Amino acid sequence: MLETITCVVALCDECGRQFGEDGEGVLYLPSPRELRQLITNTELPDEYRWSIGDDGRITCHLCRLTWSCALSGHDWGAWRLCLCSGDRHPATPGYWCGHQHRMCLRCDQHEFQQIARIARTAGGEAA
Ligand SMILES: [Zn+2]
Ligand SMILES: [Zn+2]
Ligand SMILES: [Zn+2]
Repeated sequence: MLETITCVVALCDECGRQFGEDGEGVLYLPSPRELRQLITNTELPDEYRWSIGDDGRITCHLCRLTWSCALSGHDWGAWRLCLCSGDRHPATPGYWCGHQHRMCLRCDQHEFQQIARIARTAGGEAA
């Protein structure tokens, strides 16, 4: 026989992602209360735990991290040479583009900085 049951899923109020979407799989639980307890469980690794505000707004792990960057600034990793080989910055194919690049260790922000000029032979490009 077929039976229709009602389940609850948790959606982030910021980005609309479902809890578990990119991890263990989306969770369907029978009651909002159980789901709330589960997604904010402090035994979850920090990067998977969601938060629920006093106003009931649900924030996913990624939005929470982006948020903490907005409040306290990015947690930048070390500068590394950009290896875009011309995809992002004008470069002679096979040569370094003259930029370096660093990533935030919390969210997915990138930052580029030009630290050298590429000597061009003929032609050149408008910057
Ligand atoms: Zn989100
Ligand atoms: Zn960040
Ligand atoms: Zn580059």
